[in-house]
This record gives sequence, structure tokens and C-alpha cells, in this order.
Amino acid sequence: MSARPFDSLLIANRGEIALRILRAAREAGIRTIAAYSEADAGLRHVQLADERICLGPAPSRDSYLDIARVLQAARLTGAQAIHPGYGFLSENSRFAAAVEEAGLVFVGPTAASIRLMGDKVSAKQAMLDAGVPCVPGSAGALPDEAQAIVALGEACGYPLIVKAAGGGGGRGMRVVRAPGELLDAVAMTRQEAERAFGNPQVYLERFLERPRHIEIQVLADTHGNAVWLGERDCSMQRRHQKVIEEAPAPGIAREAIAAIGERCAQACRQIGYRGAGTFEFLYEDGAFFFIEMNTRVQVEHPVTELVTGIDIVAEQLRIAAGLPLSLTQADVRISGHAIECRINAEDPFSFLPAPGVVSEWIAPGGPGIRVDSHLYGGYRVPSQYDSLIAKFLAHGSDRELALRRMRGALGETRLDGIKSSIALHQALMAEPGFVGGGCDIHHLERYLAENEA
Ligand code: ADP
Repeated sequence: MSARPFDSLLIANRGEIALRILRAAREAGIRTIAAYSEADAGLRHVQLADERICLGPAPSRDSYLDIARVLQAARLTGAQAIHPGYGFLSENSRFAAAVEEAGLVFVGPTAASIRLMGDKVSAKQAMLDAGVPCVPGSAGALPDEAQAIVALGEACGYPLIVKAAGGGGGRGMRVVRAPGELLDAVAMTRQEAERAFGNPQVYLERFLERPRHIEIQVLADTHGNAVWLGERDCSMQRRHQKVIEEAPAPGIAREAIAAIGERCAQACRQIGYRGAGTFEFLYEDGAFFFIEMNTRVQVEHPVTELVTGIDIVAEQLRIAAGLPLSLTQADVRISGHAIECRINAEDPFSFLPAPGVVSEWIAPGGPGIRVDSHLYGGYRVPSQYDSLIAKFLAHGSDRELALRRMRGALGETRLDGIKSSIALHQALMAEPGFVGGGCDIHHLERYLAENEA
């Protein structure tokens, strides 16, 4: 088993999450090593780390996605463990296996768990076996024969959604409203999936018309303990990508959340899961339907940290070191309400990426405000990577106060030199649908379409 104590950590990521990991490691007394690309030498965490090593050129495939280079960086710096953050290699089972084969600690689940959950078809099967409810659909990947596919479409019912087994990041999905469109949609999604994920397998799911996206955060150690840390509502999405997240989910009974949360913790014990993870569900008409599990820390994890007071990254480090969780289920109490706004370097309404130099940055603050960001005045937002530049979080004793604090935070921020999504969030924090709470996953796109017209 690879979970064992370590006192040095290679951070194989960039931006706000690299800084987040650095802070947790520093607090735990772990030596930090930043592995960065040529475009990222000026990042905050690279400056703050105890040691730094350049992985290679800016393109991710030559740096953050290059398994051999990341392992070499660990070897050269004597790192004993690697934290992959989110994105990049975080859900790559070959990477997790290679880290362990190199005799290092991977801060995350076993390669086998990542493989099981990384294939949405096997993940759904594992969840069904563990008694977690799933969206009804084709059991397993689609066969090749047209007739068999048509029959499975009929059995699933319309509208349905064709999804790539290896999909992620909101890509590799196609809604089909009528049987006549099915075969073309399957062929196209297969092609896309092969190109994007190297896996042409697709499956069918009932397309839920007005669901909410509700997810359960879990932590599991190598001693058989697993806890769930409440839920997050991530229904505010554009193109299947999250824009705003909050906890708790407005209007859902605590007993219903507890029932599904217990099932998730039980599923972790059943599959021998280790580390932090998220079970994602669609929620419609009072029922939860599992869609996928993320086997890593998520962008929106601070929402849960604010309402529970639990440091999820610190727990990840403990688990990887072979220690038991520092808490039990009885210690998990939800206090108040938290909201996260993802701030991207992009046009707030056209969503076109807007890299460039930040000429001025004055972050918000005050009671109940948390800002996770790597920005500073003079920082150049590179064009090669994801456009997330900051996460604003507001926590209050209730949702109303959290909303008021978020409005204040957005209003007092100074961010000059580049465009950002701050103006979009300001509009949304005043939008009656969102303010009312409990929107479905199409709410934001409906709002954007109306405001365009
Ligand atoms: P990814 O791994 O790309 O994030 P997910 O399976 O998590 O893909 O789905 C992302 C989003 O796509 C969901 O939050 C939801 O908005 C939408 N979606 C996925 N499956 C369905 C479904 N069966 N019905 C309706 N919407 C869906």
C-alpha cells in the first residue's frame, strides 16, 4: 500500500489550486515543491514554494500533462509525494499508477479506483451494485449493430442523452429528442469521444428535462472510515460547466440529503475508495440519480469547507500519509450558507477568453469572504490554460446574508487590464430566479438567451 508518511510534496498543477495546496502542505509542515511550466514562472505558489522546478514549455502536453516530466521533476527534487490538484493528470489512472511504481505517494485514490470511476459505464455499474440510484439508461456501453442501438433507445425512452464513457468537462454529450436522430447522434458522439478521450464507447441515459445538479462531497481513509460532508448545488451551469455553486442546496429536505449522503459513504467503503471524492447527481421530482464520480479535489470544494469548517485538502494529505480521518460523521455539522462565484478571464457575456495583463487587482475582504486566487497586479493571464483566475466565496448565517456579502465583495473588487466574469456574477446575484433559489441546470442558459434577445 502506498499511503505512508511523507515530508515533501510536489505540486503538479498551477493557478489558484496550486496555491491552495501549497498553503495546506505548509500548514502540515510539509516541504513544498512547485512544478511549473515556462509560462508560469511568475505564479504566486512558485515564488512561495520551498523549491521549484520547471517542467517544460507552456503547452500542457509538454509540461503539466507530461507524465515522464512530472516524475522526473519529483526525482530531481527528492519529492516523496505528488498532489495533482484538479484537471491535468488528476484523474489519469496511468499517472497514479506510475507515481506509485516510482515509489512515491499519489495524493488521491488508487489507480484502480480512478480507472473504475473514470469510465462512466463501469462507474454506474459499481454504483448500482452499491445501491446508489442512477439515471435510467442502457446498462453498459452500446453495441455496434444499428438495430440493437435502436432497441436500446426505445427501452430507454425519449428524450435521451448519448454520453461518452470517457467524457469529462461537459464534452461528449448529445441530446436526442426523436428515434430518427439516434443513430447519427451515436455515430457523432463516438467520433468525438474517440478524438477527445481516446475511447469511442458511448451509452444512453434518460434526458432529465429540469433537474438540479446536486453533489455529495466524501472523504475516505485507508482505515475503512468514510464520511460525507453535505452537498453542493451546482445547477448554475453554462454548456454543462459550473458557474456558481452553493451549500446547502436550497429547499431540499435534510433527511433526503442525509439518506443519499449515507449511501455515498457506504459506496466508498464497498469499493475501497480512498481520498476526497464527489458523487454527482441529477435531482428531479424529489429523487437523486447518480451521473458520475470525480476522484479528486474539485474547484468548488471551498463551499463545503465554509459550511463545515473542515479543510478538505488537509484531509487529503492526511489520508495520503496513511493517517485516519481527523473527524467522524458526527463531527460534520452544516453551519450557515456559502456561495462560490467562479471568476474567469473572459468577456462576462460573450464568454470569449480574454487573456492579458492585470494592471490592478484589489481583492475583496471582510467577514464571511474568502478569495482563492493567484492574481496580483502585473500578472499576465496566459492564453494556454483554463481561464479561471479567482474564486469568490461568501459565507453567512443564512443564504440571504451570503448573497448580500457576495454582492458587496463583487462590488468592491478592482480588477483592471483584463475582462472578467465579475459583471455576469453581479447580474446573477440580483436575478430573481437565482435569488429565489433552487434553479434547474438550464436556468442560466435560459437567462442568457433572454438577455441576449
Ligand atoms: P462531465 O463529466 O462532462 O462533467 P457529467 O456526466 O457530469 O459530465 O454531466 C455534466 C452535466 O451535463 C450535468 O451537470 C447536467 O447538466 C448535464 N447532464 C448529464 N447527464 C444528463 C442527463 N441524463 N439528463 C440531463 N442532463 C444531463
